[in-house]
Amino acid sequence: MSATARAIDVLQLGAQRAICCWQAGELLIDPGPASTLPNVLAALDGMVPRAVLLTHIHLDHAAATGTLARMYPELEVYVHERGARHMIDPSRLLASATRIYGDRMEMLWGTFEPVPADRVHTLAGGERLDFGDSGAFEVLYTPGHAVHHVSFLSEDGGAYVGDVAGTRAPGSAVVLPPTPPPDIHPPDWQASISALLACAPERLHYTHYGVANDPEAHLRQLSERLERWSAAAAAHDIDGWAAIARADMISAGAAPGELEYQLGEGGREANYGGLRRYWDTRPSAG
Ligand SMILES: [Zn+2]
Repeated sequence: MSATARAIDVLQLGAQRAICCWQAGELLIDPGPASTLPNVLAALDGMVPRAVLLTHIHLDHAAATGTLARMYPELEVYVHERGARHMIDPSRLLASATRIYGDRMEMLWGTFEPVPADRVHTLAGGERLDFGDSGAFEVLYTPGHAVHHVSFLSEDGGAYVGDVAGTRAPGSAVVLPPTPPPDIHPPDWQASISALLACAPERLHYTHYGVANDPEAHLRQLSERLERWSAAAAAHDIDGWAAIARADMISAGAAPGELEYQLGEGGREANYGGLRRYWDTRPSAG
């Protein structure tokens, strides 16, 4: 038995279809920022969530979790073992995010409340989670975008993939790799894409933004683009890399809004920085 999936638009700063929270029955998969939780609660219309499943703990996916745990005393949280301690004590996570976002933290993400340790279920990958009428899921460890990233493969054929399947604007054919620091690891990411392909899901439910009904073509395009952009980051400075990425997106048919999202102010530095950090810090570097 599995429940119908619904994308709830969290409407961060009013932006439509930028970040979604997936709802499956009484489950929320990546509830989004704390600042946008009222929008999610309004969409739930009184439904009491039973569990939060986190693909990873980045603030755009997970910041609302502690607030939900406080509001709903029965709610349980599922997260990879390498992300769990940051949900229980977010101080280090918030310190590193504050270095990036500064005094925009509260406006962007709201208050990241800790999750009580006894409500956190840690995952390593390989688990089977059965939530009755809300669905049953196999947990797949999918690092590369984040070292603690997992995907939830529903028995109904839907795969909840967070950011490991990339980003793709609604209606667009262009799949993009989000590559912000600090964990970007292209070889691990490619292995995760291969693992997802091997599972042959019928649909990809991703966070930015929507559902892909062509999982194989979507994942293969992401794999090829990640390969090209990673190699470009190894060989070029940020301007050279951005020129290559821009030309690639234009030839793929990307709209101006997609170019702005990926390579505009902030996005350009973050997406180059994460790839560059991989090349500069890998053990064989230098
Ligand atoms: Zn994200």
